[in-house]
Amino acid sequence: MTKRLGIFGYPLHYSLSPLFQQAALDALGIDAKFEGWPTKTEDFAQAVQGLRADDCLGCCITQPHKEAALQLVDELDPAAEAIGAINTIVNRDGRLKGYNTDAPGFIRGLRESVGFEPEGRSALILGAGGAARGIVYALREAGVSRMTIANRTEERAHTLARDMSRARFRPDAISLNVDQLANFAPYADLIVNATSMGMRGGSADEESPLPPELISGNAVCYDAVYVPPVTPFLEASENAGAQVAGGLSMLIYQGAEGFKLWTGQDAPVNVMFNAIPPTMRED
Ligand code: NAP
Repeated sequence: MTKRLGIFGYPLHYSLSPLFQQAALDALGIDAKFEGWPTKTEDFAQAVQGLRADDCLGCCITQPHKEAALQLVDELDPAAEAIGAINTIVNRDGRLKGYNTDAPGFIRGLRESVGFEPEGRSALILGAGGAARGIVYALREAGVSRMTIANRTEERAHTLARDMSRARFRPDAISLNVDQLANFAPYADLIVNATSMGMRGGSADEESPLPPELISGNAVCYDAVYVPPVTPFLEASENAGAQVAGGLSMLIYQGAEGFKLWTGQDAPVNVMFNAIPPTMRED
């Protein structure tokens, strides 16, 4: 029986997951079809119930369903519970378990694309939405020594900082405002854009969340956004002399973690990268 996998989200125009996941399944000769499942909020809960069928291995979840999905599974991986969002569901004999693979996907992407080792370093995270939650958790687990979270809606930055605080790790929370950013940005070893600013088709697709003059040439700048491959933030960072990487590596590695959970096999990540059209890559 051909197995089914897919990605839930709305809208799904820019999702690259069906492309690179199908390429990986085909490369390993796994008889499964990975599809895009555009699903509106009002239809999501019922759609998740359909994952329990015998022929379904599970799914990926993207915006706007990552938080709602928490309530719809039978079991949560502890990291997903701590992050407060899931992007992967695995179906085992009709029981659904939720995972967050954005967090390990981000760290692997950061290490492999720019060789950044977080332990003992300082980080500035721009944004406090679903992606930022996974990124802050991942950096905390990887041992960053100091962190600042900056968000347009400042209260959300405080909530995320509180949720992720523990002994010897208490992130600062500020608003995404030039005067406040000036106290932190020039001194950060790592700056991550986890806002949707710069994302094609978004409301702020031509804007960088950080003015170029606040970016140090010594920083590593990572953008979670991957469409377009070079965002205004990455362009500004590159002009400042910083080392830069876009979000494609995070996308592929979060997908590779999901692939392993669904199939039990290591994902062929080179096949996944090669499935991405050249115009969507940075190089
Ligand atoms: P989300 O939960 O909707 O959060 C959006 C974030 O962007 C919030 O912090 C929001 O601030 C901020 N924001 C939106 N518009 C803004 C504007 N005009 N000015 C300033 N801040 C603005 O979305 P998400 O899931 O975190 O995704 C964020 C980005 O990460 C998206 O572009 C997504 O494609 C990308 N992403 C990439 C990967 C990957 O694998 N590479 C994985 C997940 C997400 P407020 O709180 O003030 O609204």
